[in-house]
Amino acid sequence: MLDYKLRLVSILIVLTVLVIGCLVLDYFHLRRRPWRPGLYLGILGIAGAVFLTSNAVLPTSLFYGAVVYQGPSVEKLVALTYDDGPNPPYTLQILDILDKYSVKATFFLVGENVRTYPEVARTIVQRGHQVGNHTFHHEDLLKLNRTQMDKEIDATTELIEAATGVSPKVFRPPHGFRDPVVLEQAKERNLRVVQWSVMPRDWKKPGAEVIAERVVRQVHNGAIILMHDGDGLNHGGDRSQSVTATELVIQRLQQQGYRFVTIDELLASNR
Ligand SMILES: [Zn+2]
Repeated sequence: MLDYKLRLVSILIVLTVLVIGCLVLDYFHLRRRPWRPGLYLGILGIAGAVFLTSNAVLPTSLFYGAVVYQGPSVEKLVALTYDDGPNPPYTLQILDILDKYSVKATFFLVGENVRTYPEVARTIVQRGHQVGNHTFHHEDLLKLNRTQMDKEIDATTELIEAATGVSPKVFRPPHGFRDPVVLEQAKERNLRVVQWSVMPRDWKKPGAEVIAERVVRQVHNGAIILMHDGDGLNHGGDRSQSVTATELVIQRLQQQGYRFVTIDELLASNR
């Protein structure tokens, strides 16, 4: 059984010390017979660290516990999700495009940005979209202790409730990074951890056409698509490519018969 009180960072520190110890033993030709345990245990330790870290950062890994990264594949439903907002003017531009095509999406909001732009957060909900919690400062939760994590999640929920009148039911850790404690914190608050299955890397700004092509290439029934209307805590961070790509993605996927739904609707379609 996994000890749910263990943090990934603590395990990695212990593994690093063990690996260094093992390799030092081997380097100084200590205990090399009959099978060089220092070397092999050192390699095993490195492999373990790589394994544990990959499962914390890969969006679709279920190793540390349940996360949602796609919906059921029976219907041609997809969910557009936008992270790091509210971030005007881009969030509002995206809302206009979504309205134009009668598309509903899900926005994972950063608390600090909700505090700065509460009226934009309110507009997202008023226009029929779902909102989720994306922490207050958009920090890597693997590096925070439980108390800091509590504040990151709870302060954001409170701000979203105050600004929009709704309580978020879904949570996306920054960068999708999680360990057992991060998942436990979400579970304690009845927040579903939502990752993604389609990642066009729009934050790298490769051009709207490239972003749209990547989505179209990766899309599948039940896909959760990760896009960005914001850029961490960077107010006004340029998301014009994501705005343009939104329209291209909607046009192309609607042409292929896909219907856009919120995360709640996507998951409810299972029943
Ligand atoms: Zn983010």
